[in-house]
Amino acid sequence: TDPALIRNFCIIAHIDHGKSTLADRMLQITGVVDDRSMRAQYLDRMDIERERGITIKSQAVRLPWDGHVLNMIDTPGHVDFTYEVSRSLQACEGAILLVDAAQGIEAQTLANLYLAMNADLHIIPVLNKIDLPAAQPEKFAEELAGLIGCDPSDVLRVSGKTGVGVRELLDHVVASVPAPVGKADAAARALIFDSVYDTYRGVVTYVRVIDGHLSKRERILMMSTSATHETLEIGVISPEPKPSELGLGVGEVGYLITGVKDVRQSRVGDTVTSATKPAAEMLAGYEHPKPMVFSGLYPIDGDEYPELREALDKLQLNDAALVYEPETSAALGFGFRVGFLGLLHMEIVRERLEREFGLSLISTAPNVVYRVVMEDGSELTVTNPSEFPTGGKIAQVFEPVTKSTILAPAEFIGAIMEICQGRRGQLQGMDYLSEDRVEIRYTLPLGEIIFDFFDQLKSRTRGYASLDYEPAGEAEADLVKVDILLQGEAVDAFSAIVHKDKAYAYGVDMAKKLRELIPRQQFEVPIQAAIGARVIARENIRAIRKDVLAKCYGGDISRKRKLLEKQKEGKKRMKMVGRVEVPQEAFVAALSTD
Ligand code: GDP
Ligand code: MG
Repeated sequence: TDPALIRNFCIIAHIDHGKSTLADRMLQITGVVDDRSMRAQYLDRMDIERERGITIKSQAVRLPWDGHVLNMIDTPGHVDFTYEVSRSLQACEGAILLVDAAQGIEAQTLANLYLAMNADLHIIPVLNKIDLPAAQPEKFAEELAGLIGCDPSDVLRVSGKTGVGVRELLDHVVASVPAPVGKADAAARALIFDSVYDTYRGVVTYVRVIDGHLSKRERILMMSTSATHETLEIGVISPEPKPSELGLGVGEVGYLITGVKDVRQSRVGDTVTSATKPAAEMLAGYEHPKPMVFSGLYPIDGDEYPELREALDKLQLNDAALVYEPETSAALGFGFRVGFLGLLHMEIVRERLEREFGLSLISTAPNVVYRVVMEDGSELTVTNPSEFPTGGKIAQVFEPVTKSTILAPAEFIGAIMEICQGRRGQLQGMDYLSEDRVEIRYTLPLGEIIFDFFDQLKSRTRGYASLDYEPAGEAEADLVKVDILLQGEAVDAFSAIVHKDKAYAYGVDMAKKLRELIPRQQFEVPIQAAIGARVIARENIRAIRKDVLAKCYGGDISRKRKLLEKQKEGKKRMKMVGRVEVPQEAFVAALSTD
């Protein structure tokens, strides 16, 4: 295709503002999907995506319109995947900024809009859901116009649901989004903006060609890893994969298949070039995914450990950002320490392990990555609280911090500030987007955000606040490790790294919880919370004489045998912590609450 006839664009929207519905309507109006085979959320292929209404994996689809080729590139909407969003944006020349006409701009829209502006994309402001009786198009057109510096009358109005205004929007994309420019004769350079594992075909890599040409049966080179592969198939998605004999030229968007089985060999952000005539330089901006949040994952049934390993191996084929290594816990047995991009990523992985692989899992409380500097100048990176050094030789501890942006109606400013202050936030600034909506900016430790921050924010603002955060380096903090001890033995699964001011509350809380959950033993069991050797909280489980046979003294012998067997079975699900028997359920319950 002549690059002059190509338009590459994406849709930026907050969750639920109607991106998938609008995309569906575009598929239908351009005739890519006929009315008969149309089903809601055509492009959201993963079950979890459809159920939660979020887009995890981006896709690209080619739409013919008015003699032109429109490539619609779907971007993930969530903060965990900011890097992937930035790569998808780099594949485009324009972005539709889609805002719910009854809700207005939200934090994630804003964050992604800034990314799009940084990438120099042409922005098309659009209000969606104008069919809703609660829509306030005048008000939010003002808001949008103020934000991007255009006239309110330039803001398009559509309904993805009814289709009103969607044709005009497609025309507008053709008229206003710049055509791609690139050097047709140069060595090939294509940007990987997504890569997806498919059981039957292996890895499907989504690319945008910047310079040159990619062909079928060509040896290609992945520039970040120097690995070479052969393109077995190359083509476009419209809406199903369609192989192309001509390959892909400047400005085109499509997929390629090389037979590799692991998405780590085809990384988002990498540059594909020709192996025989390689480009001199890769495209700017490649980054290796960096896990920000860690958690221990253990099978509830210890026998399922091999299945868990296999499931993680399989998931990793599809998820280059997932990292894990084996870990053993005295309390929980054999499992893995798993690294995630963020909380949503963690939830998705866990859900997929349970749903797609049928595993029952127990996960330890999530933690961030700490950098600990010792007095002798040595340094260590801690991804697991149990590795946190104890004793007085720590000089400094650093934790990751974020630049967080919260958007909410002005009436909630007080509540929001209270929550952020309680989590060691530092106010950076505040702006009114309109007379009753504010943008509040805080520096917040990531470790505080991953602990039900979002839930609290939502409940204190009746669901009206939205949050976005991005990594902003690290900061020194007064952090300590709190251990929980049963009869003097630390239970590794309950150790946590917390701020000094919160250590006492954590200790008391955990000790109380465990006293409720652990059954009495034949001896007294002290539960202690401690920082190093210093005990900060204490509870006691009183002793009982656990003579089950006393009850049926003189009773018949078969009843006696039954009781003994029952006791034996119960023992199997017990974990020993020192001399203390703890039922597995107690660990599960203690770790799963709040
Ligand atoms: P996404 O999260 O941005 O992909 O949003 P969806 O496309 O999944 O839409 C979220 C919800 O808004 C769904 O319940 C849609 O049916 C509804 N919705 C989407 N577009 C419109 C619209 O134009 N009008 C109305 N009334 N509802 C819409
Ligand atoms: Mg969606």
